[in-house]
Amino acid sequence: MKKIFFALFTSVLMIGGCMNSQTQISDNVAVSSASQQNAQNAALTVTSRQTPGQTAPSQQQADPPQKTPATNAQLAEPISNALSRITKKTFGLKVSPGHSPVSPEKFSGYHTGVDFETTPDEQNIDVPIYAACDGKLLMKKIATGYGGVAVQSCTLNGAAVTIIYGHLKYTSIIPSVGQALTAGEKIAVLGKGYSSETSGERKHLHFGVHKGTGINILGYVQVASQLGNWLDGSKYMQ
Ligand SMILES: [Zn+2]
Repeated sequence: MKKIFFALFTSVLMIGGCMNSQTQISDNVAVSSASQQNAQNAALTVTSRQTPGQTAPSQQQADPPQKTPATNAQLAEPISNALSRITKKTFGLKVSPGHSPVSPEKFSGYHTGVDFETTPDEQNIDVPIYAACDGKLLMKKIATGYGGVAVQSCTLNGAAVTIIYGHLKYTSIIPSVGQALTAGEKIAVLGKGYSSETSGERKHLHFGVHKGTGINILGYVQVASQLGNWLDGSKYMQ
């Protein structure tokens, strides 16, 4: 009888021991889950840094030191899928009323920016335009040839530049002059095609990058060498 009782007692102890072990394991699992959750939260935090005008997250962008190079060599896309849009006028293209990819053409000279076209589906909806870089809004106005135009200060490869956003719907321009903008922040929508909002032009974004801090919104220069004062913004969105 004593033996049976002893055996029972030992079994109870063993079961108790097992239960303790299981509890221990469960705690470890809980700790492990918490770690995974933290890792997921960290990943979400990295993802949430993406801004509307930027491309999908990549390995490089997940690494903060590489994501923000000291030289600021990149521009955010100022319009969704900028690089997959057709451009009728590339940077530096020479046009005249008798020789142009668009018709009618009222300008002459070398194109100082790059044009991002809209699709037929986008003609009657708002097409948002985003800040291509961090920097203050320097100017917004209605100008002949553009309709609404906005100019932003920016640093590119360590040098000061200004960004020109042309053919915006002027009344949709959100920031006030002097306001600091963050790359990817919405600044306006495109003006309606062939209306005063675009100065009669088709619905598209004219995107210019002018060297230095001075404001110059010329869409064309008359001498090819003057293009040296401008940069092809599309080259910085790769
Ligand atoms: Zn243009």
